[in-house]
Amino acid sequence: MRSFLISLLATTCLVGCSDVSTQLDKAAASTSEVVSKVKRSPEVDKLINAAIAGTHAYDITESLTTEIGPRVGGSPQEALAREWAVAKFKEIGLQNVRIEPFTMPYWERGIETASIVTPFPQPLYITSLGGSVATPADGIEAEIAYFPTFEALKNAPAGGLEGKVVFISGRMKKAPDGAGYGPANQKRRQGATEAAKRGAIAVVIRSVGTDSHRFPHTGMMRYAEDVKKIPIAALSAPDADQLERTLERGQTVTLKMTLTPKWLGDRQSGNVIGEIIGSERPDEIVLVGGHLDSWDLGTGAIDDGAGIGISAGAAQVIIESGLKPKRTLRVVAFGAEEVGLLGGYAYVEAHKDTDLDKHVLATESDFGAKPAYEVKASVKSGESVVRDMADVMGIPFVDAATNGGPDIGPMFAQGVPAMRFQQDGTDYFDLHHTPDDTFDKIDADEIAQNVAAFTVMMWLASETDTNFRGE
Ligand SMILES: [Zn+2]
Repeated sequence: MRSFLISLLATTCLVGCSDVSTQLDKAAASTSEVVSKVKRSPEVDKLINAAIAGTHAYDITESLTTEIGPRVGGSPQEALAREWAVAKFKEIGLQNVRIEPFTMPYWERGIETASIVTPFPQPLYITSLGGSVATPADGIEAEIAYFPTFEALKNAPAGGLEGKVVFISGRMKKAPDGAGYGPANQKRRQGATEAAKRGAIAVVIRSVGTDSHRFPHTGMMRYAEDVKKIPIAALSAPDADQLERTLERGQTVTLKMTLTPKWLGDRQSGNVIGEIIGSERPDEIVLVGGHLDSWDLGTGAIDDGAGIGISAGAAQVIIESGLKPKRTLRVVAFGAEEVGLLGGYAYVEAHKDTDLDKHVLATESDFGAKPAYEVKASVKSGESVVRDMADVMGIPFVDAATNGGPDIGPMFAQGVPAMRFQQDGTDYFDLHHTPDDTFDKIDADEIAQNVAAFTVMMWLASETDTNFRGE
């Protein structure tokens, strides 16, 4: 399989496109005709071949997920992950390896149990949402008020839910680009606030995910300033189904739930940085990255060990090639993304008065490890260079804006040009933020395609005279 894929990539680079929708297959097929005409430079050929033949990202991700495991922003495990990243970046030959620390409030999970009390007593699988307050130590027991969607709750009158546990269902749609996530995520972010405004004492939601396994999906939630803070947890999809069937019987359904998470005050996090210093324009920066923190239920393989593996692995391929990029290639392992993009904002704070205006192009991998199927860019000049990056990889360029990824968003907002290889995320939300986000889900060939794409981006952005800022 592996050698077949290598030879396929040598001609068209269209690995994995069969996984996405028919429409995307068509786009890919038409692009393969273009690809055959694209003349790769010997340097690009060398980088792509080395990336595809290698296991750079696969090995780095294996190391992080095995030797560190889960690493929540601000936790002792995230601190160990920073030390791991410093050592790994040095080992692969990056220069100027350093940690840029920042402080952040730290939330830690506790006990989390739930059960139906009446009419059909039985346990349910739940998990606290990140940032949730606790229930009383002996839990809450209350009648369920059911809302099939978040919109139904928002349309409910003020008051009327006093003393009740609100259950918000609503299914997330699968899509290669994860388009269903934003709408589905509203109940996770705002469910507690909307329920509390109407008098509820706690909330359970159907997990924001697309699987049918009995794993609940965690993820950060937020409280509005002026509304009572009530505990909120996610049910696995089968448990949400079970609760819906129970409610369909028309009897009063009572839920018992105990959550004991805690906010533990300020802790340290940080961004880990390593570079290949440019040979001709060292002050100009091409930035790639992923986020080092993860949720605590799995080992953070697809979210986002893979992004660390892909960005550092691509730098490793370039170092091993002996090629000397003209611009500085900077790899950033961002801290504390899951809990509020804190590393991305801290990066802007640390660099806004020094070199942020010298960042010519940035991208991130934070959508798993499946092959990229389209390329997007938000650049003021040099779109043709980004089109070349897409062409040599045999990935269609689409005329659509991007902020480059969650951790790149804050610097993009400050004027840093961004581009993105859009990975096939059709199955991403089957695993996202669950105990099932583990290393076995990563395929060595698929992640290698991402490494090849990142080497191409880093090399071509370094070699061109354009700075993508329109300056
Ligand atoms: Zn992520």
